[in-house]
Amino acid sequence: MSLKGTLYIISAPSGAGKTSLVRQLLSRDAQVRVSVSHTTRAMRPGEANGTDYNFVTQAQFNDMINDGQFLEFAEVFDNKYGTSQTWVQQELDQGTDVILEIDWQGAAQVRRLMPEAVSIFILPPSREALRARLTGRGQDDVSVIERRMADAVSEMSHYAEFDYMVINDEFDLALSELQAVLVTRRLRQSAQQQRHAGLITDLLSE
Ligand code: GDP
Ligand code: ADP
Ligand code: 5GP
Repeated sequence: MSLKGTLYIISAPSGAGKTSLVRQLLSRDAQVRVSVSHTTRAMRPGEANGTDYNFVTQAQFNDMINDGQFLEFAEVFDNKYGTSQTWVQQELDQGTDVILEIDWQGAAQVRRLMPEAVSIFILPPSREALRARLTGRGQDDVSVIERRMADAVSEMSHYAEFDYMVINDEFDLALSELQAVLVTRRLRQSAQQQRHAGLITDLLSE
């Protein structure tokens, strides 16, 4: 039997740094890919369709729900976000690890469907830092930032539902902690036995 990939769920309040951390992680780790969600929200300056998100209309999103195309979907900040079931399953079946950058509601749905998924929650070092990052990112207007700050507390209140917690204070430290979770997972006895079956046979032969 070939080795299946591991599914990672990463959640955080908006502005905590999950997109930046995941982008760096992907550039250092060829065995992992990120799922590009579908969303009904407006494209930000600098975002590209198909890369950051698949941007769709409300009607297209509803059609996808009715077709059963989503592994999970949720409403966040009055917009809909959803994860493609087919893409995720295809990657995992090929042995690729997959990261979902989704909110706590989506995380709960995925955990129910795939209890073997590994979940990580990212927290900012303070509320002030979170506000500074949302402002510094320079992509959302003041009312959007206020809405995201107000919703951050309810998102963060779900931290204990996750297997791991990373505080994104010093970026490089948070990145190495995130990498450590992936590496540890790959070193599990069951996975290593499958991956190195030939070596183990050689080493143990009389
Ligand atoms: P950012 O996190 O500040 O960059 O803001 P985004 O607009 O990119 O994401 C908004 C929220 O939607 C975040 O809480 C994400 O975790 C969540 N989100 C993004 N994609 C998905 C998805 O496919 N499914 C679910 N359930 N949530 C998603
Ligand atoms: P999210 O995807 O969680 O909304 P982003 O990755 O877009 O967050 O990060 C929000 C902003 O904070 C970006 O401008 C990013 O460059 C910045 N940022 C991320 N991590 C850190 C950090 N450890 N220290 C300072 N700024 C950070
Ligand atoms: P943004 O609009 O700033 O890109 O994302 C806002 C929030 O939506 C983030 O917290 C992000 O995690 C969440 N989000 C993005 N894609 C998905 C998704 O496919 N499913 C769920 N449940 N949440 C998502």
